[in-house]
Amino acid sequence: MTSPQIVWLRRDLRLADQPAFHAAAQAGPVVAVYVLDDGIAGRNAIGGAARWWLHHSLESLSRDLDRLGSRLILRRGRAADQVAQVAREAGATTVHAIRHYEPWWRDAENALAESVELMLYDGNYLLPPDVLRTGAETPYKIFTPFSKALLAKMPPREPLPAPGSLQPPGNLPASDNLADWRLLPSHPDWSGGLAAFWQVGEAAAHAQLEDWADRVDDYAETRNLPSEDGSSRLSPHLHWGEISPAQVWHRLDRGGGAGWSTFARELIWRDYAQNIIVQFPRHGEQSCRDGFSGVWRSGAAAGDDLRAWQRGMTGYPIVDAGMRQLWQTGWMHNRVRMVAASFLVKHLLIDWREGARWFWDCLVDADYGNNSVNWQWISGTGVDSNMFVRIMAPLTQSEKFRAGDYIREFVPELADVRDPLIHDPPDEMRGSYPPKVIGHREARERALGAYRDQKD
Ligand SMILES: Cc1cc2nc3c(=O)[nH]c(=O)nc-3n(C[C@H](O)[C@H](O)[C@H](O)COP(=O)(O)OP(=O)(O)OC[C@H]3O[C@@H](n4cnc5c(N)ncnc54)[C@H](O)[C@@H]3O)c2cc1C
Repeated sequence: MTSPQIVWLRRDLRLADQPAFHAAAQAGPVVAVYVLDDGIAGRNAIGGAARWWLHHSLESLSRDLDRLGSRLILRRGRAADQVAQVAREAGATTVHAIRHYEPWWRDAENALAESVELMLYDGNYLLPPDVLRTGAETPYKIFTPFSKALLAKMPPREPLPAPGSLQPPGNLPASDNLADWRLLPSHPDWSGGLAAFWQVGEAAAHAQLEDWADRVDDYAETRNLPSEDGSSRLSPHLHWGEISPAQVWHRLDRGGGAGWSTFARELIWRDYAQNIIVQFPRHGEQSCRDGFSGVWRSGAAAGDDLRAWQRGMTGYPIVDAGMRQLWQTGWMHNRVRMVAASFLVKHLLIDWREGARWFWDCLVDADYGNNSVNWQWISGTGVDSNMFVRIMAPLTQSEKFRAGDYIREFVPELADVRDPLIHDPPDEMRGSYPPKVIGHREARERALGAYRDQKD
């Protein structure tokens, strides 16, 4: 009689190309467990929109496991303790899991390995982030050489099939009820916009990939245009591990094309971000570059500006459309994320951590590596080159990337304003839409002055 095998799930909520499931299913009866550990990540506890996603993703995986003759066990508490407890109850000594790189998950893996045999597998990235080394045998800090080194090792390994059936053990441990976790918002339920925008779960991730396969050839031309559906919208599926990057790569790589190569580069950014948090585990809280603490504003006026940004009321249509898209759908177009983040940090001189925290709570794809690496890159505080003095002009960006329809969709006060006035409407066309919190030229001079003064 083979002993039961535990599969510990985290951000890898899929059955296909899931090496932990694959190995466990070959070794014996399988018990799959997900633990909701609200304390483990401290300030990086799963945010509101991401909890909504998690609920639906667990529901979907649970249904898929039922179909295979198994069951998803849900527990709440300290992750390492709960997984060890489930293993004891099932009479198992081996736990299989995909390796995760957030500092709290690495600690939990070490803690769990003290009480069970923990088998860790790679599977959520194109390559494990600690594999690539420079000529000097150090990890990469800069994106371009990292990307070249990774491309030289592509394609990733072939995806693994989903198990055809999963044999449950004789005594299945008890499970919490998902609804009791209250991951969904209530009083008020603000999730209507998210539900209208997203399909969650492994099958939905593959449907999205199939749809994207028909459009990826245009990616180089369309990716920066927020009014068009020109990017894959795979980010929450990839973040929650409903699909693996190896599956995405093998489905889309048809031997070249500008669309595919540009898209592959974005997938590599995702690996690059993990490579950074492995080197700088506190990257989500700590700037990599000094010399900014005196640049950020604080006090009541800065607090008002932060709230105007969060609510999409800065008077800059492209910024506000992005912030409202975020609130409504749990996602924001990448070009607009850059414009909105740059606006907070440079036009309003507010510490990037305030912006990263708001994104963390509002994004369904909120990801410790991707969020902090992108915020620090925009701010100039990151490991890469210092971008602080490259101040994006939101109104020019809006025009250049033809954001008119996008603004009309998310800023209904401006629904009747036509191009090109929509990018910077004159006062008489704004109606109830607010004036700019600060003029672009004034903001630019203030930012450059604050940066200069701080450096002196
Ligand atoms: C300030 C800021 C914060 C961000 N926070 C997050 C975050 O928390 N989670 C997140 O997944 N992405 C984040 N991004 C990166 C990027 O905006 C999103 O990944 C992208 O918009 C998701 O849409 P998509 O799936 O259509 O992307 P596509 O353009 O179709 O790209 C394909 C995939 O590549 C990855 N990717 C694309 N761009 C980046 C990037 N710049 N960095 C890392 N990975 C990338 C994503 O997994 C994405 O799904 C952030 C960007 C900025 C500027």
